Amino acid sequence: MVAGLGNIYADEALFKSGILPETLCTDLQLKQIERLRAAIIQVLETSIEAGGTTFSNFLNVKGINGNYGGVAWVYNRTGEPCRVCSNLIQRTKLAGRSSHFCPQCQS
Ligand SMILES: [Zn+2]
Repeated sequence: MVAGLGNIYADEALFKSGILPETLCTDLQLKQIERLRAAIIQVLETSIEAGGTTFSNFLNVKGINGNYGGVAWVYNRTGEPCRVCSNLIQRTKLAGRSSHFCPQCQS
């Protein structure tokens, strides 16, 4: 069970599972839910290994910035080419928050 996932991880997990951010939970197929679950775990593990995210004011327990943003697939990459298909990453606003996605890889 996931109570909440930060913007960065949500964007990255949705990209890895090929799901558009506007998709309603009630419209997800079981296979999509399974892919999303695996992607969330993978994204969080990658981030932990990389030392966290790159918020300018975020420091880990060792007092250094994390570097997850350096390997982001879509987060904060609006207008840059997708690392998989080269289509431009787009940004939309959902519930007042930015969401980044690839219109080709996510459907
Ligand atoms: Zn793509």
